[in-house]
Amino acid sequence: MRRTIYLDLEGMARLVAEVGLVPMLRTLTDRLRDDYARWEAFQKCPRTANHSPLGVVELMPISDDRLFTFKFVNGHPQNPKAGLPTVMAFGALAEMETGWPLLLSEMTLLTGIRTAATSALAARYMARPDAQSMAMIGNGAQSEFQILAFHHLLGIEEFRLFDIDPAATQKLLRNLGEIPGVRLVRCESTAEAVRGADIVTTSTADKAYATILTPEMIEPGMHLNAIGGDCPGKTELAPQILEKARVVAEYLPQSRIEGEIQQMPESFEALELWQLVRGEAPGRSAPDEVTVFDSVGFSLEDFSALCLVHGEAEKRELGEVLDLMPQDRDVKDLYGLLQSARVTS
Ligand code: NAD
Repeated sequence: MRRTIYLDLEGMARLVAEVGLVPMLRTLTDRLRDDYARWEAFQKCPRTANHSPLGVVELMPISDDRLFTFKFVNGHPQNPKAGLPTVMAFGALAEMETGWPLLLSEMTLLTGIRTAATSALAARYMARPDAQSMAMIGNGAQSEFQILAFHHLLGIEEFRLFDIDPAATQKLLRNLGEIPGVRLVRCESTAEAVRGADIVTTSTADKAYATILTPEMIEPGMHLNAIGGDCPGKTELAPQILEKARVVAEYLPQSRIEGEIQQMPESFEALELWQLVRGEAPGRSAPDEVTVFDSVGFSLEDFSALCLVHGEAEKRELGEVLDLMPQDRDVKDLYGLLQSARVTS
């Protein structure tokens, strides 16, 4: 019998607790590296996006020759006022050979983890090896995952925090205040947080051409991990920063629509992450170069994450088994399913 496993929020939280968040970030980063290295093995496309004045709903499909995944994800920066997260997601993993769904899973938590793992992977190639401090601009849902990934995977010790919502920074301090080796510094402005930082992560949410970082804030050798600008009309960096930096995106056909580079002409040159992973291009060419990871989130990252989660759920017998698809009966007799439930009209 084929099985479809269902992991809800509680199931995912349990899985992360059993695996351990830091080991999961490490394993996923390695898996992302391996999947990015086999770039041509994937059938890929830019995600579809349906826009409303307040946000966007997106579908993100991808497959290799064995497995298919998709993620449903939204981006609604005003949602917290209505008691909902800005970003909510769920997704599925299926066999390519038969189409059978192996896993249906929550992905709001999983997106936080996979985005942080992807940021850490890119920073391994792009940040200066002696980087010790990071500014974290935007202290919302993604921020703790980013900080933990940069601390444990890159050895960053000092994090300089700023958010226009003081309660978000307070929440971050509450959640990560007691982690040995992590120094959290609350700042009064983006400029103060960024000053002297080796890495700057921008994770703000606003459906606007925002300029969270302006040219005068940028210092030689900084690595900018720009994750918040991820749909048309939603950016975080002044275009003048991009003009002078080495810019790396995940998948250019999608990033030219959604990323910081949507502000640049089509001829603007940027690299893709797989080129760094395969050693075909350096992530940084000099210690004083400014580097930008223009992250929007790519389906390959969700593929890696869902494969990892499916393996762990199977091994640990976590999640419910769903009766979602017909099997092991006369499958041409779809109508008979109704009769067995005594549906007569
Ligand atoms: P969130 O709403 O929980 O947090 C965003 C925070 O940004 C809020 O606390 C808000 O007060 C703050 N903010 C808004 N404008 C600001 C400004 N000008 N200066 C400082 N802080 C500001 O959202 P989240 O889930 O943490 O996501 C953050 C962003 O990252 C969103 O835009 C989301 O779409 C994006 N995102 C990208 C990826 C990716 O793969 N690149 C993945 C997940 C989320």
